[in-house]
Amino acid sequence: MSDWEKNVRRVVPYVPGEQPAESNIIKLNTNENPYPPAPAVAEVIKNFDISLLRKYPAPDADVLIAGLSEYYGMPKDQIFVGVGSDDVLAMSFLTFFNSKKPILMADVTYSFYDVWAELFEIPYRRVLLNDDFHYNLSDYKTQNGGIVIANPNAPTALCEPQEFFDELLAANTESVVIIDEAYGDFYGKSTRELIAKYDNLLVVGTFSKSRSLAGSRIGFAFGSPKLISYLNDVKFSFNSYTMDALTLQIGAAALTAESGAYYRSTVEKIIATREDAKKRLAELGFVGTDSQTNFLFVSHKSIPAKTIFEKLKENKIFVRYFDKPRIDDYLRITIGTDEEMERMYRVLEEIGCSRS
Ligand SMILES: *Cc1c(COP(=O)(O)O)cnc(C)c1O
Repeated sequence: MSDWEKNVRRVVPYVPGEQPAESNIIKLNTNENPYPPAPAVAEVIKNFDISLLRKYPAPDADVLIAGLSEYYGMPKDQIFVGVGSDDVLAMSFLTFFNSKKPILMADVTYSFYDVWAELFEIPYRRVLLNDDFHYNLSDYKTQNGGIVIANPNAPTALCEPQEFFDELLAANTESVVIIDEAYGDFYGKSTRELIAKYDNLLVVGTFSKSRSLAGSRIGFAFGSPKLISYLNDVKFSFNSYTMDALTLQIGAAALTAESGAYYRSTVEKIIATREDAKKRLAELGFVGTDSQTNFLFVSHKSIPAKTIFEKLKENKIFVRYFDKPRIDDYLRITIGTDEEMERMYRVLEEIGCSRS
């Protein structure tokens, strides 16, 4: 090792799902939305004033914050935005997790959380989920430097009820609790009402899943004015212009009443396909969790997940496989269009998946 290498910040990076360049594939591996963004988004792009790119974008992201405030009925000083929720979450870890006590996260959850903890040298502890992949509340009634929970959780696709979070927050007033609601729109409930009661609760959301805008990178967070002002202090000490001028307008267009109605209809379609997929996969011999998201977390009764993953890939169908403890016999399958799902069921049948 060279001398200078001793002072390098070494990290094992997060590995995102593959983004194959081919066009004739079925991509069910990164929980993207199969439907296009709201029509108002296309209008923004068509009519965008290119001369705006000469100037820096608004550092306070005002049009996007105003849109979020209007849509969610949240005061503007309780809203933070960033380049996807990954950026919002990373900023939040940096801002709020500075205790010597470990932050708590589930052993099976979004695999970026421990990467940020490592990156920022935040002590952390992985708390085992129960055998059914649900959280055990009493595990979180202990000294900690913070808590991060995805609800619904990924890749398990499961939720905890509102009372769980109320009790969790009542027991944790000395550290910041982050609830990542990336899939909240597919579940239909949010913990953001609890913000009025707990000034240490940060609720994070994204436009990547339910709003079909993964490519635009738009994330947001709601919290008490105090929490949000601390986040802004860190953001403005890091990069004042996180979001570009076009993206700010795209985000605002995705939040109009009309866009809201459009997205509610695409979310409904995805939920209908998901409920159908639960039955169809059961008929093909899969068992899985009762998903409240836009993806399924399933295991086959007789064929190893890794084998199915590879065979689907040979047939140009991409799903996600995690070679990790407890979940290495599961597949995470994003809900696609009905046509994409039909094609997948056919291939699964061809490769020998059956109920018996
Ligand atoms: C997809 C996902 C994110 C990241 O979303 P972006 O807004 O695209 O960065 C965050 N948390 C969870 C649990 C996710 O599944």
